[in-house]
Amino acid sequence: MSKFLSLEWFKNKVDHSVEKVIEKKLDTLMNQQDEAAGQPFSSAKLVNDVLTIVMNDGSVITKMDATEDHYAAVQLAKNVADLYSIVSDPSVVSEKIEEEKRIARLLALREGLSILRESGEFTVDGDSVYFKGISRSLPQLLVEELIDEVSRAKELGIPLNDYDGYQSLKRFFMWCALNPRAEVAHELYRFLKENSFRITKQGFFVALRNVVTLHGSPELVHFISNTYNKVKAVWKKSPDDYTVFLQNGEYKLVHDDKLYREETRTSTVCKECWGEGGYYNFDDTYADQDEWDETEWIECDNCGGTGEVEEYEYTTNVMVDHGEEIGKLTALYLDLPNRHENRFTDDWTKTFDIRVGKVVNMPKEQCNWSTQDCAAAGLHFTSDQIHYVGCGDQSVLVLINPMKVVGIGTHKGRCYEYLPIMTVPRDEATEILHDNQFDTLQLDEEYAIRELEDLEAKVQEGFVSESSKYEFNLPNVSSADIRNIVGSLEDMKAEIRDRVVSLD
Ligand SMILES: [Zn+2]
Repeated sequence: MSKFLSLEWFKNKVDHSVEKVIEKKLDTLMNQQDEAAGQPFSSAKLVNDVLTIVMNDGSVITKMDATEDHYAAVQLAKNVADLYSIVSDPSVVSEKIEEEKRIARLLALREGLSILRESGEFTVDGDSVYFKGISRSLPQLLVEELIDEVSRAKELGIPLNDYDGYQSLKRFFMWCALNPRAEVAHELYRFLKENSFRITKQGFFVALRNVVTLHGSPELVHFISNTYNKVKAVWKKSPDDYTVFLQNGEYKLVHDDKLYREETRTSTVCKECWGEGGYYNFDDTYADQDEWDETEWIECDNCGGTGEVEEYEYTTNVMVDHGEEIGKLTALYLDLPNRHENRFTDDWTKTFDIRVGKVVNMPKEQCNWSTQDCAAAGLHFTSDQIHYVGCGDQSVLVLINPMKVVGIGTHKGRCYEYLPIMTVPRDEATEILHDNQFDTLQLDEEYAIRELEDLEAKVQEGFVSESSKYEFNLPNVSSADIRNIVGSLEDMKAEIRDRVVSLD
């Protein structure tokens, strides 16, 4: 085993039972929908090498250079999308198909808007969509994503407020709306989407950057930060149930259930008298004075006074030797900022004190708020163009609050604060944010609680100080909006507390 517990290692040990149930449910639903819809076309024929499909609405799709295989595939198509993928070989994508796709998308969007309206969470005004009570409209890309999440929650019968996919998008938007720079707030989702960033349940996003190791051997920092976050993100388990050991020079992660081993033993000692053959009678003459009457010996019935019985088996818990116990995983993680081998810095200025588990920030007035120039001042981050964000010997995964982003470029962005949550092995740096089994939704509870402290005051102050600079457009957000947005975000506080309590 290497000094990291790799993503692959965690994935191989994952318990898929929950996802399988959901997948199966989705499959069944989709099949039901397909069956209800019936055959997605009215007729199809193959003449020479021209395949002609007449759709249910009377429109026609044709494919040149078609074969028997294409024809057979059409017969098996479950929906219109299947048909498009059969005919839309790059050589035959016709304008007609593109046009139909565009119309289908518009229809889907219109239908989606009514789903949003029905959910009771949104105000839909023409093509503009708002969260109820907040006068800032949603960017179209976010509207499309919200339609997907709201529909999925509806299909699964999960209330919207319990559905992580929906909650994360909603909270992401709320944090964005608190960003004093309008362009960043409006474009951030598109930027994150195009660059495969991932969002957490509390609405933050996960990014990568490089740092320089200051001390020679941060193995324990690697081990703890990787296992803590991967237990959450890959296994979806609580790190509270794990203990870290050092054995034969390597760190080891052990679940509470594996700390002890049940062992079967045999004995001939009588369980009734513990091998004594009998016991003294209890003297209750003086009610307040518990004592045994040492004059009255009662012989044990079970063993007839011998203290021994026929050999029987019993089980006992024996502590398993896992090596030296380093500590409980959660406690170790929360203590990381205090560990002296947890010290990194940035390659450019070599002045930042970077520690896993501790927020890194710079004065926001020193950040350049440009959207274009990514060599500008600010703390840089990326999702998978890791070679662009600062040199260094170590990549780290960081959480960023959308409210604190100051600029976005093509592949990377800048913020004035981030929280490094784990070191990332070099060979995982390019894939970890693309890996669907690494579920970032679970990563941010401690950070969320911290970010909610004095939020309204911080936001008001942020807007006031930025508005005095005349450097950029301030978004159109009223004090009432800010109050409503902060109120909506504060709901997560109670939710996180409930969860933390239920884990104990
Ligand atoms: Zn006995």
